[in-house]
Amino acid sequence: MIETKKEKQAGKVYLETYGCQMNEYDSELVKSILASSDYEVTTREDEADVILLNTCAIRENAHGKIYARLGDLKHLKNGDHRVIVGLLGCMAQNLRGNLERSDCVVDIYAGPDSYKRLPAMIDAVRRTGRKEFDFNLSEFEDYSDVYPKRVPGVNSWIAVMRGCDNFCTFCVVPYTRGRERSRSLDSVVKEAERLVAEGFKQVTLLGQNVNSYRSNGTDFADLMAAVANVEGLERVRFTSPHPKDFPEKFLKVMAENDKICNHVHLPLQAGSDRVLDMMARTYTKKSFVALVEKIRKMVPDVALTTDVIVGFPTETDAEFEETVEVMESVQFDSAFTFKYSERQNTIAYRKFPDDVSEAQKTERIVRLVELQKSHSLKRNRQQVGKVVKVLIEGPSRKNAADWMGRTDGNKIVIFENSGERDKEGQLINVEIKNATAHTLFGKRPAPHPNY
Ligand code: SAM
Ligand code: SF4
Repeated sequence: MIETKKEKQAGKVYLETYGCQMNEYDSELVKSILASSDYEVTTREDEADVILLNTCAIRENAHGKIYARLGDLKHLKNGDHRVIVGLLGCMAQNLRGNLERSDCVVDIYAGPDSYKRLPAMIDAVRRTGRKEFDFNLSEFEDYSDVYPKRVPGVNSWIAVMRGCDNFCTFCVVPYTRGRERSRSLDSVVKEAERLVAEGFKQVTLLGQNVNSYRSNGTDFADLMAAVANVEGLERVRFTSPHPKDFPEKFLKVMAENDKICNHVHLPLQAGSDRVLDMMARTYTKKSFVALVEKIRKMVPDVALTTDVIVGFPTETDAEFEETVEVMESVQFDSAFTFKYSERQNTIAYRKFPDDVSEAQKTERIVRLVELQKSHSLKRNRQQVGKVVKVLIEGPSRKNAADWMGRTDGNKIVIFENSGERDKEGQLINVEIKNATAHTLFGKRPAPHPNY
């Protein structure tokens, strides 16, 4: 008998992801969990039986987007085809109490540690018609027994640790994602090996506080060294680290290993010691700048990027000037700048009134964006004339006749696709000819005689 492709019986699931790379990774976990329970993952919302939104809670505008999207989905409850709607991730976890009482379109609420229960929760909604909730945070769940369902490509994410124990006073992550826990080094290395066998060229190790990774006596330096040793892998990246966990051992591993990209995302958050202390960041302006100097000394040509918050409660104009000062002195390659957004449950929410006006926050962020633009342009221009290694990611979004790739330092490079010669996932030399604050433009040097 000829075997025909088995129809997936449980239904079609459409999944949308909001927020950070960790959420992208979690969505890949969710797809895998549902696929192994006989669901088909579809990219077409109109044919879905189940629609899931994997949400973010980091700032209020992240919540705003989801409320608007839930409004769009209201019509799904009127037709004959009853679509089940699920809210997953940080926003679901963060608003748990309020959501349970709401009469919105959502049938299922599942926090970041509850994804294995999704098939059972969908079944329960189908059987009973009642809403399902699971907000249990686990000290152990690391999903290392779930192999994520990824879209084939050049880069793949691996979450090596989950949760955060730092409790920076502005941040909701410790409340939405729970306590810090790390996967075993072996399980991460095995996953990287499998990814290489599937054709991925780069892995990015993820964690809310990735460099505080600890497992069975191994630390983040051991983990990076072991992953970089995986044969066939071209590049290893990591994000986001906390400035408190940068021992020399790790910087040495970075410096000595060509496959570990020369890029460190080093979130500054603020330049004033008083504000840093109120944020519970555990470093000072001086120690942050000293760390930058140490990283630059040990890892030459390293690209440094950062996150900054303006308008933290009680931040004065003079204290904001200290943030400007640090940015002037470090000259980051790029920066994400945010207006402080008060988050329910956080220490800052309980202790410090959000007293910097919206107008002041706007004025400060505009200033930082302009300042960073000038620094990014300056640093990108330093690349002009150099021949750099670029990992080709795919066609440029603006012009499919061009390639888009990234340098070691994670800078985007656009260059002409000269026909058959190059392909996605290839690591090649590109000569940088021009630069804007966001992008480098290059040209493939003349073919190597051995090419
Ligand atoms: N773990 C990383 C660290 O220690 O810096 C940051 C991860 S957090 C998901 C990403 C960034 O969002 C933070 O670095 C911070 O700049 C920003 N962020 C977090 N909470 C915020 C808040 N309440 N308001 C504005 N920005 C916030
Ligand atoms: Fe949030 Fe701080 Fe943890 Fe980063 S280290 S996720 S900012 S609490």
